[in-house]
Order: sequence, then C-alpha cells, then structure tokens
Amino acid sequence: MAASLRLRGAASGLRYWSRRQQPAAASLAAVCSRSMASKTPVGFIGLGNMGNPMAKNLMKHGYPLIIYDVFPDACKEFQDAGEQVVSSPADVAEKADRIITMLPTSNNAIEAYSGANGILKKVKKGSLLIDSSTIDPTVSKQLAKEVEKMGAVFMDAPVSGGVGAARSGNLTFMVGGVEDEFAAAQELLGCMGSNVVYCGAVGTGQAAKICNNMLLAISMIGTAEAMNLGIRLGLDPKLLAKILNMSSGRCWSSDTYNPVPGVMDGVPSANNYQGGFGTTLMAKDLGLAQDSATSTKSPILLGSQAHQIYRVMCAKGYSKKDFSSVFQFLREEETF
Ligand code: NAD
Repeated sequence: MAASLRLRGAASGLRYWSRRQQPAAASLAAVCSRSMASKTPVGFIGLGNMGNPMAKNLMKHGYPLIIYDVFPDACKEFQDAGEQVVSSPADVAEKADRIITMLPTSNNAIEAYSGANGILKKVKKGSLLIDSSTIDPTVSKQLAKEVEKMGAVFMDAPVSGGVGAARSGNLTFMVGGVEDEFAAAQELLGCMGSNVVYCGAVGTGQAAKICNNMLLAISMIGTAEAMNLGIRLGLDPKLLAKILNMSSGRCWSSDTYNPVPGVMDGVPSANNYQGGFGTTLMAKDLGLAQDSATSTKSPILLGSQAHQIYRVMCAKGYSKKDFSSVFQFLREEETF
C-alpha cells in the first residue's frame, strides 16, 4: 500500500487522498509546526445536521474540541461529553489554531469570520481555517484575502455525502487553497471523510461542490418524477426502484437516497423527510449555481428549472424537509 501522502489522479491531475492511503507521519511533520501539535484543540463552529457528526468524528480521533454555535442547544451534547463550549467565533480563534466552520449560507460564514465577534477578531498568526459550508466561491475568495491579511491560512473544503456519510466518516471533501497547506488540512479532513480531493486555488472546492449539487438536484427531481409516473401506471414502488437500480436510470437518488416512502430504510423518505439535506439548502445551492452560470455565461437549462422547483417548494412549506420531499411535492400536484 502506498504510504505517499499525495497521489496525483491519473486522468485529472488532481491531488487525491483516500483513507486507504494513510498520511505518512514524517510528511505531515514536515508541513508546519501547527500540524506537528497534532492533538491540540480544534475549533468547530456550526453543529447542525452535518457539523454535529463531523465534530464527533474528530472527537473519536482524539482531538479535543472548542465548540461554538449560535443555537446553544446544538452545543449541549458536546458540553456533556466534556468538550469546551465558548460564546463566540472570536473565542474559538483565541483557543484553537485550527478551525472548521460548517454553516448554512454565505452570510452565516461572513458573520462567523468577519462579524463583530468573528474569528478574525482574535485569529492567531499561522492558524488554519477550513470552511466546509457550501457558499459562494467569490465569498470564499474574499474571506481568504481577509484571513491572509491576518497572517493565517483559509481553505474552502465543502463536502458531499449527506448526513449518513458524515456519521460514518465517509464524506468527500473538495478542497481549494494554497497547495502547500493541503497536507495539514488532510490531517483533520481525513478523520471525517474517506476522500479528500485537492481542486486548486481557493474557491475551486466550492465550484466542484456547486456543480455536484446542481446535478444532484436534477437527478433527484428526475427520480421523483419517474417513480411517481411508475406508481400511477400501477407499478409497485419497490419493484420499480429495483428495476431502475439494475438499469440505465440508476443514480444516487434512486439507489442510495430513494425519495419514495417505504422503498428504503434509513433515509429521510422513511422518516417523513426529517433530517438530511434541507430543501432550503438545496434551493440555496441552486442559487449559487445560477449566479455562477450567469457570471461564466454557461447555459444551465435544467439547473435553472430545478432552482425554480425548489424555490416554489420552500414557498409551499417544504423548506425544512429533506430535498427528496420533491416526490411528496409532485404527489400533491396531482391535480395538474
Ligand atoms: P444546519 O442548518 O443543520 O446546521 C447549521 C448550524 O450552523 C446550525 O446549528 C446553526 O445554528 C449554526 N449557525 C448558523 N449561523 C451561525 C453562525 N453565524 N455562527 C455559528 N453557528 C451558526 O445545516 P447543515 O445541514 O449542517 O449544512 C451545513 C452546510 O453543509 C450547508 O452549507 C449545507 O449546504 C452543506 N451540506 C449539507 C449537507 C446535508 O446533507 N445536510 C450535505 C452536504 C453539504
């Protein structure tokens, strides 16, 4: 098994690390003194659906945590487990020189970094700040500039895989930032994900994530439409899902996260669409895709349509439900 820390993807040229290739201790030690103190406290800001299990995986790997969330209840189980809860992102930055943020939107990230009690108020020189939220790549670039002015390092590292992968530590991280700092980021991200991919300069992690989620939204709507049509044609949903999953229509939305209640266990559709990836977050990501498509003059005909569908769902009371509730939304539109 290769002990090399960095592997170059044969076709893409991207740096890629999977859990099968464990980082070599000597290589990590060479990166910087920050990484050498490997089990010093790690700051974690944003303990929601994703941040909660991600932070728990850092704990399992022996990292003490400095925790902050605007919603105090989100911190309670970490406090009960003996982790240190503080009262602002600035306080996190005072106590930890490696910080991970996992926040809903660009504005939340700006607040956590640049707000009155933001990270930048007390960040230490040489700190590594990793933002795993899905936000606008231009905001990531702006934050990186502000962080750099303070003598620290910023990387965007959004994730794919959902709550299940966050729990099992099998997320995929798409990382943008200074290449020399990638190994230091891997040390932490490898505790929470099985794939950590270097994409390029700051903002490229977000670019990859936005493209992925636009495709996911389109494929989820397509799966929901196909399943609904099949059911109305008299097919048993489990049988239809089985056939799709052995045929050319198979996709993640059909075989891992099926939107039809009763087809799969352990997915939001089996739990009245609770938990998972909120419709409002999917609408937000499609808005980011829309902005990026406009600025790069890229046609995204289906992406735009998907954006409108998820926006209408939010307006009709689906905002807190998982995005696979588009199936329920279609069922309720049966009077078409
Ligand atoms: P969430 O809403 O469940 O959790 C976000 C947490 O951040 C909440 O606890 C909230 O109180 C906290 N928060 C908000 N603003 C804050 C601030 N200024 N300072 C400190 N805490 C603050 O969201 P989530 O589902 O965990 O998603 C987080 C990010 O990950 C989003 O950008 C989302 O698009 C992305 N994402 C989510 C999933 C998923 O399946 N849920 C999958 C991949 C990526």
